[in-house]
Amino acid sequence: MSHLDPERLALIAIENSTTDAERDHLASCDACSIELAELEHTVTIGRSTLNLGVLESPPERVWEAVLSEVRAQSEGTGDTRDTGGLEHTSPTTGAAPAAESAASGPDTTAAEPAVRLRKRRGLSRLLLTLAASIAAVVVVVGAWNLTRPPESVEIASASLAAFPDHPGAAGAALVTELPNGERTVTVNLDAAAGEGFREVWLITADASALVSLGELEGSEGTFVVPDDIDLRDYVLVDVSQEPLDGDPTHSGDSIVRGELDFG
Ligand SMILES: [Zn+2]
Repeated sequence: MSHLDPERLALIAIENSTTDAERDHLASCDACSIELAELEHTVTIGRSTLNLGVLESPPERVWEAVLSEVRAQSEGTGDTRDTGGLEHTSPTTGAAPAAESAASGPDTTAAEPAVRLRKRRGLSRLLLTLAASIAAVVVVVGAWNLTRPPESVEIASASLAAFPDHPGAAGAALVTELPNGERTVTVNLDAAAGEGFREVWLITADASALVSLGELEGSEGTFVVPDDIDLRDYVLVDVSQEPLDGDPTHSGDSIVRGELDFG
């Protein structure tokens, strides 16, 4: 069995009902059971934030769509009792249904009014149940999006080319902006080991200024870009071989270097 559909998981989280197959899958699948646990947590949050107004728009749109369905069912029968009660929860719709049904008249209900009424009420209930489910899913998914960590965005990248003294070396750099505005550079380096250590730098295009981001241990490292560094100026990513001489300046022995591409 493939993983459970996210919307299905959301409904399980809301209604607490599973099929045997779903229960079996949840018992054996960590991914789905963790997701369900998160959703159940979110349902709690979603229910507690329902009154905050943050998530009003989608449920209201769904609600309106269902209301118009119910109204369409009421039209032509002259009976607006089913929607009459709903109007109190949606003041913007006013008394339109009553006017519409008055215009269309109760001409088609004469044959089997009781049956029609039952059918219509059944359909209305179905639609309301559906609306409640859809609204709940929308609320849960919305709350889930609010509570899950926002995404980071990749804003630039560079391929790092070898200097003549380091034939065969290659590297790559990826600049990511976090939701809080912090930028990081992740550097990968594939190069033969040398004496001392390796250091990652940002350098201006004309090499008039440079800033050290830190030591690269191993083949990959992620470094925070200082707030006051404009990456449009410091467009060169450089990895140098540094001797253990206590001198914090660039050794002049670059292994790889590349220019950031902001795509
Ligand atoms: Zn699964």
